[in-house]
Amino acid sequence: MTRKKAAVIVFVLLLLMAGGGIVSGEDTASNVIRDIRFSEAESFTRIVVECESEISYTRNFIQFPDRLYFDFENTDPATFFQKEILVDDDTVSTIRIGKQDSGVSRVVIGLKSYSDFNIYSLEDPHRLVIDINKGTSSIEEFMPKGRVVVIDPGHGGRDPGAIGRRGIQEKDIVLDIAKQLKKILETKYAVKVFLTRDDDRYLELKERTDFANRHNADLFVSVHINASRDRDTKGIETWFLNIPSSEYDKKVAARENAISEEKMKESQTEVGFILTSLGRELKKEESIRLAHYVQNSLINNMRKKYKRRIDDHGVKYTLFYVLVGADMPAVLIESGFISNPSEELLLKKSTYRKDIAHSIAKGINSYLSTLPDLPKLARR
Ligand SMILES: [Zn+2]
Repeated sequence: MTRKKAAVIVFVLLLLMAGGGIVSGEDTASNVIRDIRFSEAESFTRIVVECESEISYTRNFIQFPDRLYFDFENTDPATFFQKEILVDDDTVSTIRIGKQDSGVSRVVIGLKSYSDFNIYSLEDPHRLVIDINKGTSSIEEFMPKGRVVVIDPGHGGRDPGAIGRRGIQEKDIVLDIAKQLKKILETKYAVKVFLTRDDDRYLELKERTDFANRHNADLFVSVHINASRDRDTKGIETWFLNIPSSEYDKKVAARENAISEEKMKESQTEVGFILTSLGRELKKEESIRLAHYVQNSLINNMRKKYKRRIDDHGVKYTLFYVLVGADMPAVLIESGFISNPSEELLLKKSTYRKDIAHSIAKGINSYLSTLPDLPKLARR
């Protein structure tokens, strides 16, 4: 058996031409794509994207024509800005590299005939290896078979969210709940889940829903922990987006939006206009239904295990900015009060957080099962 092998090391050539300098965009990103090379083996084509430091990426697939593309966060392409590499073997036509406005470098792989993909990261040096297996196109295998849900762990990085007396922080608690929720939804309910963050990083509110819109998610679920001046207040509530009616609703929203209540009142007219003018009624109805499924599941399941200690604050609405940009039904869950001593103790426990995750997953699945079946191949 012969193995054809062709490797293109553009970086080295361009580096020589540039006299050793690295050309990058105006904004300096923290990572740099140093090299993209490909080689053809008997049963697959391998593409290797080599970076200067640890790689953080998302992958996507688009049709007509079929392309697989990878967004490398906060990354500059070294020297091949908007360059195209011609591959033209049995599986791959071209590899294109471009810089997006958001600081993301996008690598687009044009596909010809293929069966599936193996994608993995390696270190030393940091690189992403993409193996495209030869065969007849079968998009269905790669496309998500079921629903897509984006889970958004609130806060992160320099924004800790609410902080408990024992020093636990909302951003850490909700990240753990979100990770467990992803695992349960994917393994138990076959729902594809994307997390807006899977580590301790700061995200703007708009980035969170932009992420969900980009992933064409069916649902957006933001997970939070509540806090109150009244240390006796405890329990669970689920919110959807609307103009707030009570002072309490405004308080919760102002805290999660990280702006003053005064400023919130000012912006209400503007957002109220958006909410009513864009024909969002259907989405609102679905958000309300989703909120009820999630809240009921949380209360029923948590009470089974923790008895009357779980207070039910029901489904509410207010002006959460994190929900404004979502193109899909969206809810925000306040899964307990960090300001309440007994609930803070519970939230500190991994098993309690797992029970919360299980209850949310069950609620999401119940809601999803009321929706009509997905048309095949029509997702993206
Ligand atoms: Zn929060």
